[in-house]
Amino acid sequence: MRFSDFPLLAELQRAAAGSGYLTPTPVQAGAIPALMHGSDVLALAQTGSGKTAAYVLPLLHQVQATQRRSPRPVHALVLLPTRELAMQVGTVVRDMARFLRDGPKIAVVFGGVSANPQMMRLRGGADVVVATPGRLLDLVASNAVSLSALRLLVLDEADRLLDAGFADELERVLALLPDRRQTAMLS
Ligand code: AMP
Repeated sequence: MRFSDFPLLAELQRAAAGSGYLTPTPVQAGAIPALMHGSDVLALAQTGSGKTAAYVLPLLHQVQATQRRSPRPVHALVLLPTRELAMQVGTVVRDMARFLRDGPKIAVVFGGVSANPQMMRLRGGADVVVATPGRLLDLVASNAVSLSALRLLVLDEADRLLDAGFADELERVLALLPDRRQTAMLS
């Protein structure tokens, strides 16, 4: 199988090829068609398995297929347990979106830094939010972002997000989301 066998937008194919992705990894071969089909996905895959692209590509495909509105409702949320991971995944999302015309607005939010630039970034909404749970909850509490129209939730490093230290925050985020949405969990 090759990447070009997936019915992904040509701009996403180009970005994947530009990053040297020619043959999908096993997690990509399983998750990309399922996510494009609208299914919920639970994937167990190690770091280095290509799991980030396995959800980032179908996520961007789906976001791009949606009519833009103003302010932009958050379409897709990726939750990660640490700011390093949030930054890494934010980079992959931006990288894979680089050839899209009228591409999505992407906001990456995490704690340990001032919330102000993140609030500014969220003005007018965002199509894709990559976040750690604590800062995301703070931003929701200050009305900087609303998750009520979310269509796709990705829990990356889900095992860590479900750990005792995060379970409460995760529960509070889930309570803010519509029930009718697609969910991908990667662990
Ligand atoms: P991840 O497991 O998402 O952290 O990805 C690990 C590394 O594999 C990253 O450096 C990716 O750029 C790379 N990668 C992801 N998918 C592929 C692929 N299909 N072919 C080659 N490299 C890939």
